[in-house]
Amino acid sequence: MKKKTSGRAVRVDAALRARSPLITAAGARTLHALCEHPHAPRWNHAAGDRLQRADLDAVRKFADDLEARRGPRGPAPAPAILRWTASLAPRVPTFRDRIPAGFDLEAGWDAIPTMSREDVATRAGRLVPDDADLSRMIVYRTAGTTGHALLVPHDPRAAACYSPMLEFALRRHGLRPRFTDRMVACFLVGAQARTVTYPTVLSAWNGAGFAKLNLTAADWKAAGSPDRYFADLAPWFLTGDPVSFAEMLRTGIRHSPAALVTTAVAMSASLKKRLAKSCRCPVIDWYSLTETGPLGYACPRGRGYHVLPHDVHLEALDAAGRPVAPGARGEIAVTGGRNPFLPLLRYRTGDWGRLDFGRCPCGDPMPRLLDLEGRAPVVFRATGGSAVNPVDLSRVLREFPFVQHEFVQRRDLSCELTARPIPGVPRPMPAEVRAALRALLGPRAAVAVKFDAKLGSRAEGGKVEPYRSELLLED
Ligand SMILES: [Zn+2]
Repeated sequence: MKKKTSGRAVRVDAALRARSPLITAAGARTLHALCEHPHAPRWNHAAGDRLQRADLDAVRKFADDLEARRGPRGPAPAPAILRWTASLAPRVPTFRDRIPAGFDLEAGWDAIPTMSREDVATRAGRLVPDDADLSRMIVYRTAGTTGHALLVPHDPRAAACYSPMLEFALRRHGLRPRFTDRMVACFLVGAQARTVTYPTVLSAWNGAGFAKLNLTAADWKAAGSPDRYFADLAPWFLTGDPVSFAEMLRTGIRHSPAALVTTAVAMSASLKKRLAKSCRCPVIDWYSLTETGPLGYACPRGRGYHVLPHDVHLEALDAAGRPVAPGARGEIAVTGGRNPFLPLLRYRTGDWGRLDFGRCPCGDPMPRLLDLEGRAPVVFRATGGSAVNPVDLSRVLREFPFVQHEFVQRRDLSCELTARPIPGVPRPMPAEVRAALRALLGPRAAVAVKFDAKLGSRAEGGKVEPYRSELLLED
């Protein structure tokens, strides 16, 4: 039985009303329970869905379309995608650069230059339509492990569409949540040294509670606090990445939610099994990037990932941006979506897979991504055993003048950093770099630091893998 929050009235002040315009009295009590629980974590942020009534109607329309507009797709963009692209082409600078006036989108689609992470990282302003209403823009900072963090502009309506997409994935796995404002719907679980945390209520889920929280010990009052908090607030389901869920097991959280939804692919079968067993619930993986939102969910029959939203077009591309032969492996590129400030045109995700347009016995007519190789989760451990997220190492290493780096942790927990210094800039002392890394890895961690001016530039196998670990998530 899920906990109900008490009947006491909780004041909704102007700031809370601005963050959560549609909050109900019961929702305010749920939020109060999330905030004021004796074992609540120390929150570092205040956030809300900022949804107005008209937004909520739009989100509900999206939820309906998500069901009604599913259908078979082919390698060529559907008419709705062509119309969407044509309407943005004259208004978005990045689209204008790629699509000359009078261009035949249908015939010339494959020739449209692709977009990459670079376009979002360094030229995001050129993706905003000339006539966009900027008054409601919110900015997400994504955790970058390969370079600088991305600042991704979003708006409340598009952000709230995550909720129906999560619900859709749950339904496809036989789960039918009935969210109310008297319960906590979901915890988004993280395991990083530092990340944004907040509790809120989501009007897309009838005002149910939601919290983004971090398992790092520094955020909690006592070692047993996370377990008590999860047990008492009883979130209906949890989302997070494999690293965070592995950390949840290690922290001794015993709560059994209705499901775990992992926001990263490439979770090992053994960790998935352990999580399912320990949480006594299904583990559903889905494919979602901050830049694109959710793109796929695991087929309930285990046949890859079905494309989740109806309003995106996926392609598998070769290095030159041409579609690979049907069924062949390529880099996954996305067109469409619903973020008004970040329209994506053949956006290369950096993830690889094969697209299958054939029928699936599970009944979802949307195409599938097979053999999807996302950015595999890497876990590091501090000498005390706690997980260290590559995102945190990136944050530390960004402070030093390096072009590139490789960081490896061995099974005995010893670490080695090889960095390519920026030429012409004084090199930091290795001891200085070691001290910065030890702040995360433990004061006595064995850390070797060396510089290699040729890192990444060697002719053979020049690709640099910034993070490697010989440890398994389930260790
Ligand atoms: Zn299927």
